[in-house]
Amino acid sequence: MIDFNRISSVIMDMDGVLWRGDQPLAGIHDLFAFLHARAIPFALATNNSRMTPADYVEKLAKMGVAGIEERQIVTSGTATAAYVTRRYPYRSVIHVVGGDGLRKLITDAGFEITGEVDPRVVAVVVGIDFALTYDKLKKASLCVRAGADFIATNTDATFPTPDGLVPGAGSIVAALQTATGKSPISMGKPGRAMFDAALESLGISVERTLMIGDRLDTDIAGAAEVGMQTALVLTGVTSPAEAEKANIQADSTFTGLPALLAVWKATV
Ligand SMILES: [Mg+2]
Repeated sequence: MIDFNRISSVIMDMDGVLWRGDQPLAGIHDLFAFLHARAIPFALATNNSRMTPADYVEKLAKMGVAGIEERQIVTSGTATAAYVTRRYPYRSVIHVVGGDGLRKLITDAGFEITGEVDPRVVAVVVGIDFALTYDKLKKASLCVRAGADFIATNTDATFPTPDGLVPGAGSIVAALQTATGKSPISMGKPGRAMFDAALESLGISVERTLMIGDRLDTDIAGAAEVGMQTALVLTGVTSPAEAEKANIQADSTFTGLPALLAVWKATV
């Protein structure tokens, strides 16, 4: 059980917690009003690298959530950009298989991007790429085989769409892993890079920070591993039946944000 009296900051996943696709979920406005009223700092963390923090600020504003700042948003793309910035000299060449959002973050961090086989390539960064081709996989594979580091934004096998579950970045990463015989370093949840980036921006101790997520295997498992308290909401990927029989358990499970807020407000 979560002791809400001990919670001083929050990290939230977005898809399946705040919205599903373009549909805001119940409780989204009450949640932000509550956090603002109590001056509780928060960060928003997503494995999705397709959109930039600026895109998320805009998406939230369209849903009636104003005043979110870009620095409050951590994506597997921003975590990747932070990681390569720490690891490689300014202006190094990075081979990217991914979308425009990811490419922009890495360019803005001061790196030269290529999609070619280039001996200067220090790392191959792989995220979701809706324009994936055999040629792209081939070139990325040759770079990794030539000794470049292999970095995945995340290893989510799928993501939910109105058509059903479709291949995620992890499916592309798996193809490259098979082709090269090498395993990537992954930046996304459940890895700790994203939690570290979010916790750093909050500046609150990890045990006083609550993770709200909809996936047991990424949000909850990763947050528990770094020592956060965890709340699962059943409005996204993990179904009530899966939550009941899973090996990983959140500290508390709620049907959605309204139920979580009701308990939190009653406690404090
Ligand atoms: Mg989610």
